Amino acid sequence: MKFSNLLFNSLKESPKEAKIVSHQLMLRSSMIRQHTSGIYTWLPLGFKVLKNIENIVRYNQNKIGCNEMMMSTIQSSDLWKKSGRYSDYGKEMLRINDRHDNELLYGPTNEEVITDLFSDYVNSYKGLPKYLYHIQWKFRDEIRPRFGVMRGREFLMKDAYSFDLDHESAVETYKIFFKSYLQTFIDLGLQPIPVKAATGAIGGDLSHEFQIIAKTGESELAYDPELVSQNLLNKSYEEITSMYSASDEMIDKNRSNVVIGRGIEVGHIFNFGTKYSLPLECYVLNNEGKKVFPHMGSYGVGVSRLTAAIIEAFHDENGIKWPFNISPFKINIITSTHGSNNEVAEKLLEKLTLKYGNVSYDDRDLGMGRKIKDSELIGIPWSIIIGKNYEENKQLEITNRSNGEKSFLTESEVESFKFEQYTP
Ligand code: ATP
Ligand code: MG
Repeated sequence: MKFSNLLFNSLKESPKEAKIVSHQLMLRSSMIRQHTSGIYTWLPLGFKVLKNIENIVRYNQNKIGCNEMMMSTIQSSDLWKKSGRYSDYGKEMLRINDRHDNELLYGPTNEEVITDLFSDYVNSYKGLPKYLYHIQWKFRDEIRPRFGVMRGREFLMKDAYSFDLDHESAVETYKIFFKSYLQTFIDLGLQPIPVKAATGAIGGDLSHEFQIIAKTGESELAYDPELVSQNLLNKSYEEITSMYSASDEMIDKNRSNVVIGRGIEVGHIFNFGTKYSLPLECYVLNNEGKKVFPHMGSYGVGVSRLTAAIIEAFHDENGIKWPFNISPFKINIITSTHGSNNEVAEKLLEKLTLKYGNVSYDDRDLGMGRKIKDSELIGIPWSIIIGKNYEENKQLEITNRSNGEKSFLTESEVESFKFEQYTP
């Protein structure tokens, strides 16, 4: 992609309305544009990042045998009346009347819809367990939308739903999702902290939130830094959850090394038994031909919130520092204004795009300094400068965005250079 084709316009100053660094940097680097309160347009750069995050989430859901599908954003109110949540949900739900005066709503979550459809396709215990998910826009009319896409009104969520024959099996499923969530957040370069959680409007008795430590987070967390830094992937669900103290926080009871900090909730999982299968009459027949109501769970990831959470984790005073697998472009080629090196850049763009997928070439009629600043602001992990050094010594300058390390290579050396796919 050439910058001359890209819809991009960097801002030097942070817009006043942006209170936290991720919101500031997303606006300054043309990732998002506010359409109206809590509702955003995802501009080309932001959209690429959103898709990259979505794909990492998708990969991990597919790996545990979860079926991807797509439910509508608009739902009928009937099912919500049956589950009792139509009145409970309150003002957060956006209610719409169609031309025939049917009551519709913009889905804030999908338990009702999925429970209703499930019983049409699975009638026997032999069809259980089953896991289903979609990655779809939600609408919640939050009282205080703020911090950009961190707490929007319209936001992208991955929500999965599980159906099991009984409680024991549903708990096993819960553990599978729990472990898969740890892997997902680690694949995104983050260090997740699972925290026991209240179940709220969704209901049920078993629930965890996944928090990312950040100064700007909305949740207060008490944690033991030593526990948090352990490799959770090596541990079983039982080992991890036994690391909690009675107050449900990630503190070792036997030590006093507690830090009070803040966290961003990036995921939330629930086991709620038959809370929806009973009122919505979703059942299967067991091996004796008797009706059994599946035990269910739901599992959410805040995909759009994650774009901001990842920026909160990876940035410096010059801009974003994307993990390689999430960055909108992996490598950015930069030439100077007068255009004498454009052919070299074009050739390199073609070769590196074949090898690394998304590569950009800043071919704008702007000074080198400005282009370097924009590259740092956007957060592209690698840049290649074709400037004075090329003209004088046929050398290209490779810079690692995260640690600023530079190497000077010839054209053919750059073509075979292994750009490390690093996480800052
Ligand atoms: P919160 O306590 O932050 O309001 P929640 O408990 O209402 O979250 P869930 O219903 O569990 O959230 O939704 C699953 C995930 O969706 C959350 O963990 C969060 O990452 C994301 N999410 C929820 N509300 C928003 C929002 N208004 N804007 C962006 N992401 C959101
Ligand atoms: Mg909420």
